[in-house]
Amino acid sequence: MKEVILIKLGEIVLKGLNRKNFEDKLIKSIKHRLHKIGAFKVKNSQSIITVTPVFDDIDMDEAAECISKIFGIAAFSRAVAAPKDIESIKQTACDYLEDTFVAAKSFKVEAKRSDKKFPFTSPEIAREVGGCLADRYPDVAVDVHEPDVIVTVEIRDDFAYIHAGSLKGAGGIPVGTGGKAAILISGGIDSPVAAYMMAKRGIELTAIHFASPPYTSERAEEKVRQLLEKVSAYSGRMTMYTVPFTKLQEEIRDKCHEEYFTIIMRRFMMDIAEKIALKNDCQALITGESLGQVASQTIGAIACTDAACNMPVFRPLIGMDKEEIIEISRKIDTFDISIQPYEDCCTVFTPKHPRTRPVLKNVISEQNKIEWETLVKDAVENVKITEIT
Ligand code: ATP
Ligand code: MG
Repeated sequence: MKEVILIKLGEIVLKGLNRKNFEDKLIKSIKHRLHKIGAFKVKNSQSIITVTPVFDDIDMDEAAECISKIFGIAAFSRAVAAPKDIESIKQTACDYLEDTFVAAKSFKVEAKRSDKKFPFTSPEIAREVGGCLADRYPDVAVDVHEPDVIVTVEIRDDFAYIHAGSLKGAGGIPVGTGGKAAILISGGIDSPVAAYMMAKRGIELTAIHFASPPYTSERAEEKVRQLLEKVSAYSGRMTMYTVPFTKLQEEIRDKCHEEYFTIIMRRFMMDIAEKIALKNDCQALITGESLGQVASQTIGAIACTDAACNMPVFRPLIGMDKEEIIEISRKIDTFDISIQPYEDCCTVFTPKHPRTRPVLKNVISEQNKIEWETLVKDAVENVKITEIT
């Protein structure tokens, strides 16, 4: 008995002429992501993608878990493929559904026939398979109104597929169809969530992390790598650029007025991130900022940081409460990593009283007390590259 996964496309089907491009990107993601688990055949026909393991020893629980995190998928079913004759279909359904029926009180069978040449009509198929299941599992009653289990038999071109319901997919649109952007990633709770949210809208990610050794530790950077690994289960592989930020931060500390430390530091982050993003064909930056969360996230402070770069800056969390952000971070399994206590460069040299209503003109004149051009250039040129797979 061969178990397969049937994938129903999500929002993708709405995309008219782009549909082919969307489907191709989705299939590429599926193939790439499943590669780690084993060899699969991935076939797209009649609006359904069928994922079939090539060998019998492949872990289908792991495959299903992997597929549940791929954007562009509305729903998927674990199913069994049977040869297209009614006796095989009945036999296969009874054997395959044993575990499901042991736990159920009632069921009904629905049949769909996309191969109209199949010699039984849909109601006939439902009756035949339903009768066979009723005989095999006499304790499970037929209930056409509110059954515990809906058994679906789909007669397609190659096989008859049998399953007992579908699971919710990750939604969104396939990664890569929305262009490429750079996520500014800290070790905090917010930025991994922001990365996930933009990947869900089809964005391919590049990650940029600012590190200030010895004020920040190697362990802090390792934490960011672990967070990105969790994000990559959804977004696919990405490159992480670690920017050496110590020199610039020390200059800010030594030369600028304390109340501007954070805002100037954040302006350098945007400037450097934009330069790295441009080198990597990214069209936008992404941050995990949420309005009013901290002093550097007021409208005035955001306006001053935005003025340091020309690219669009996506802030998918801008209108969200911390609780809502935490809920997503738990769902994508980043929360427990994020709360480990390691220093971020944002928390070294933090002023006691940061400016919440900075005036751009004053910020720039304060920033110009540093000869920052070469420092910025050095930071961009000396990034460390780590591949996240
Ligand atoms: P997070 O939980 O993502 O750290 P936060 O609420 O702690 O966010 P800040 O520390 O002010 O807020 O950072 C705001 C945003 O700036 C982050 O969401 C992230 O996008 C970016 N950022 C902060 N620190 C770094 C860093 N060390 N490297 C790269 N980006 C960073
Ligand atoms: Mg932070």
